[in-house]
Amino acid sequence: MDGYSFELITGPMSCGKTEELLRRIRRCVIARKKIKVFSPEIDTREHGDYIKSRNGLTADAIKISHSIQILQKVKPDDEIIAIDELQFFDSAITKVITVLMNEGKKVIGTGLELDFKSEPFGPMPELMCIATKVDKLHAVCMKCGCEDATRTQRLIDGEPADKSSPLIMIGGDETYEARCIKCYELPDKNAKESNKISTPDFVSL
Ligand SMILES: [Zn+2]
Repeated sequence: MDGYSFELITGPMSCGKTEELLRRIRRCVIARKKIKVFSPEIDTREHGDYIKSRNGLTADAIKISHSIQILQKVKPDDEIIAIDELQFFDSAITKVITVLMNEGKKVIGTGLELDFKSEPFGPMPELMCIATKVDKLHAVCMKCGCEDATRTQRLIDGEPADKSSPLIMIGGDETYEARCIKCYELPDKNAKESNKISTPDFVSL
């Protein structure tokens, strides 16, 4: 419950990040702490002024379009600042959270660490560095059923999306599912044979 801290909850799609955030928010409410919850406007899953976990729990949240707005909304007596979907924020979010920590606030955030290409998502690398505590949650793999899913698979019309597929899809039935590294697939129709590193290069080392 102490301030001057930043707890980051991360992991793939469907690992329970928001559910865990809501659990921690509830504990702060029970402890009668002054709390403010923020969520990015870009999060299309929910349109209302609240955040919602996949199991249906909710908390009131202020929707914002730029991370600087968080500093404008936080009041001196706010003790806990909860932020959902950190991967969608602009790069200034790292500075914003640092300012909040230095003011003695406790920040609790969630974020998808990797995008559908398994590449670091937006500001998440910096946030993982400045966090005072990081929890990496795993999901159940939607393909093999193991409990070590750390990747987010994008499917278009039920098939693994190509690496070159656009970030925002128009048309088509786009879905996401959690997968383990063994089951994760990223087809790359533009990959050239010449880009592959040949075995002799390693052998000669
Ligand atoms: Zn699997």
